[in-house]
Amino acid sequence: MTSEPLKPLILIVDDTPTNIQILAENLIKDYRVKVAASGENALRIVAQQELPDLILLDVMMPDIDGYEVCRRLKNNPQTHAIPIIFVTALNEVANEEFGLNLGAMDYITKPFYLPVVKARIRNHIRLKQLTDTLESMAWIDGLTGIPNRRRFDQMLEIEWKRAQRNQLPLAVIMVDIDHFKAYNDCHGHGEGDVCLKQVATMFAATVNRPGDLVARYGGEEFVILMPETDTDGAQQLADHLRHQIESMQIPHTSSSASCWVTISLGYAALIPKPEQASSTLLDDADNMLYQAKNLGRNRAFGYCLG
Ligand SMILES: [Mg+2]
Repeated sequence: MTSEPLKPLILIVDDTPTNIQILAENLIKDYRVKVAASGENALRIVAQQELPDLILLDVMMPDIDGYEVCRRLKNNPQTHAIPIIFVTALNEVANEEFGLNLGAMDYITKPFYLPVVKARIRNHIRLKQLTDTLESMAWIDGLTGIPNRRRFDQMLEIEWKRAQRNQLPLAVIMVDIDHFKAYNDCHGHGEGDVCLKQVATMFAATVNRPGDLVARYGGEEFVILMPETDTDGAQQLADHLRHQIESMQIPHTSSSASCWVTISLGYAALIPKPEQASSTLLDDADNMLYQAKNLGRNRAFGYCLG
């Protein structure tokens, strides 16, 4: 059974019920539609529910007007990318300029001609979908299809701050494929790429707890981020990953560690202190990886906090 992709979600914000009704009736066929009758209600919906792909925003509303709603959404990193189209009876060029300078995508004046409104909405939705695709591509490693270092760095900062705030442990595992240069020299770079993909696929299948992230850190290096995880938890996953890769039995004819492709892992976990930088955790895990290699590779090594 194949599931239809979800239709784009549009939020209509207007304090006049007739306006909401006309727009909603005309959009419901092609989009999922949510409505809000005030600025405050709109902000609440955006904060608490699925992010809309587009917002049609009335300007003149009591309490929080459309300009202020726009300003707040654009100032919030979570919501600043949502395209906003002002729909308003204010048709002075100065109003339009003001709205566009707040970061709105477009400006439609009432009374509106529905076919034009629908065409504009369609264009903005297409642009939004393209932007979303490009954004997700920028986070994915081209060869292996798993998240890349840029994505890892971004998530590390987010999780580090969260762990700092909540005083919860955060764990990182650094992974290196053993003697990968020798593997490439011996089996060729094409086979090397295949090996990287196989290892990445196994990692992605094994690291499956919600919130955990596995990324390609560069070359034959991978990294795993584990929120709310202590050293024991990191050790368990590290041992499991090591075992999983070895049991794939990918032949490696020039490794001193094994006749199969194997990995070395270094893990570290800590509860971040207020003034500490996230690089501390990465450096710790990297040092542990260095130890794992020194001890003969094909092993996981980490420190215990006692
Ligand atoms: Mg109004």
